[in-house]
Amino acid sequence: ASAESGAPTIFDKIIAKEIPSSIVYEDEKVLAFRDINPQAPVHVLVIPKFRDGLTQLGRAEERHGEILGQLLYAAKIVAEKEGILDGFRVVINNGPSACQSVYHLHLHVLGGRQMKWPPG
Ligand code: 5GP
Repeated sequence: ASAESGAPTIFDKIIAKEIPSSIVYEDEKVLAFRDINPQAPVHVLVIPKFRDGLTQLGRAEERHGEILGQLLYAAKIVAEKEGILDGFRVVINNGPSACQSVYHLHLHVLGGRQMKWPPG
């Protein structure tokens, strides 16, 4: 399957708890867990539990507005829980040229060190 085919991803198994993850925050619609290959002292992924076509942000439709807002708010909750509320970054990689590797929408919440800008 091509990267953008909409096939199931490893995140489905994380949501189903078929493979373990270090969960930071969870509610009915959102799951936040530590990235397996952290790029900062805090590196948490925030994902919708129901992908509903959101393989990537570039596929978002108007009906996704509510979950998109919930994901962003969950990123704030994660930053608060992780003690990085005064300095953190939220990233969405969209598509191959942005280095997206998992085609289930996810926000990266990064912090705990000085960030650089531009990110490169
Ligand atoms: P992307 O490159 O698509 O924006 O980010 C995908 C992220 O998922 C990467 O940072 C990668 O380290 C993380 N990742 C991939 N597989 C797993 C996994 O099985 N468990 C966890 N916790 N993170 C994963």
